Amino acid sequence: MSRTNLEGESETGTLTETTAGVQSASSRDERARSETVLELDSITRAYDQERAVADFSLSVPEGELVTLLGPSGCGKTTTLRIIAGLERPTSGSVRIDGEVVSDEQTFVSPENRDVGLVFQDFALFPHLSIEENITFGVDDWDRARKKERAEELLELIGLLDHRDKKPDQLSGGQKQRVALARSLAPGPKVLLLDEPFSNLDVSLRTEMREEVRRILKETGVTAISVTHDQEEALSISDRVAIMNEGRLEQVGKPETVFENPQSRFVASFLGRASFLQGRVRGDVVETELGQIEIRKLHGPVSAYEGAEIDVLLRPDDLEAIPTNQATADGEIVHRQYTGPMFVYRVRLNSGTYVRCLHNHSDTFEFDQPVAVSVTADHSLAWYPREED
Ligand code: ADP
Ligand code: MG
Repeated sequence: MSRTNLEGESETGTLTETTAGVQSASSRDERARSETVLELDSITRAYDQERAVADFSLSVPEGELVTLLGPSGCGKTTTLRIIAGLERPTSGSVRIDGEVVSDEQTFVSPENRDVGLVFQDFALFPHLSIEENITFGVDDWDRARKKERAEELLELIGLLDHRDKKPDQLSGGQKQRVALARSLAPGPKVLLLDEPFSNLDVSLRTEMREEVRRILKETGVTAISVTHDQEEALSISDRVAIMNEGRLEQVGKPETVFENPQSRFVASFLGRASFLQGRVRGDVVETELGQIEIRKLHGPVSAYEGAEIDVLLRPDDLEAIPTNQATADGEIVHRQYTGPMFVYRVRLNSGTYVRCLHNHSDTFEFDQPVAVSVTADHSLAWYPREED
């Protein structure tokens, strides 16, 4: 499958909320919004026989926030390091703002790339004030300009009153804001963030996701972040690029990749997927949970007349109804309490496991026989059955 097919949407993305913020000080706002700022063309990075990144292509328009999402070891950090110039690709090219910074002939060093990096551990200088930390990367600017820049950024991150403090007087969330401001100070063309929330308490993460997104959007910087956390990726990004074993599996808006995953890998990586086996017969797919009308499935199912397919079902697509043994589709084998909701795991009579999302008031016991019905009111993704 070609990468362009997988993109599934135009380059311009969904950037409506970029405002003229901190970077309007530069001439950046003169350029068309849809201009491509970062272009990775068939990047491969091999270590011995292993390919950490394999034939990876991605175009990122100005102002977009793209998140690379995938399991540990799939090549996310290596991709970021290649963009930053900390790593040279075995083959392929990197362009920033139309200029080749890496290919077979060219290699521009990290400090000459106009790329900012936000470190996982924030890496603030303990002996410098917040203001001095922020202006560290623009130390060669004249005093007045530096002061002005610091003020803009301190205001942006809501820490004007903390400018003279030292990092250890700040909370984790505040330190992260300072780290972000420091990376933004020189006005990089591309900002890279590797697992930016991994050093924060779980309770702070959700809040900081929104805050980091707000700051990035206000500056209008083009940003690539990396995470293995699907909820984080889906909630902060304009587009999500899902990686598997060094390859790009799919890139698209969060809703698109979640609702219409192009591969089984993407489907199973996002949102606790189950696959229900079925056979296409005329207008329906016959499954152990009864018939599903093919008009409820994405795409050209009819072409698979008579064939076995797997229908993707997530917990919110299914409902379990207590019943007696004789009419049951399966039984409850596990439940996870999340506060407002229960996620029940059901072993179907065939041995297939599915999950059903229920309001916290639906309390079922283990071993409870249940009928399971497909209640999804959106079209369902499906995959031709793979040969075992
Ligand atoms: P991620 O950030 O997605 O967890 P990485 O990009 O760090 O993944 O690593 C991808 C793969 O490349 C892993 O299998 C890792 O072991 C391998 N790798 C990364 N850097 C090196 C290196 N310097 N030498 C050898 N193998 C490496
Ligand atoms: Mg990593």
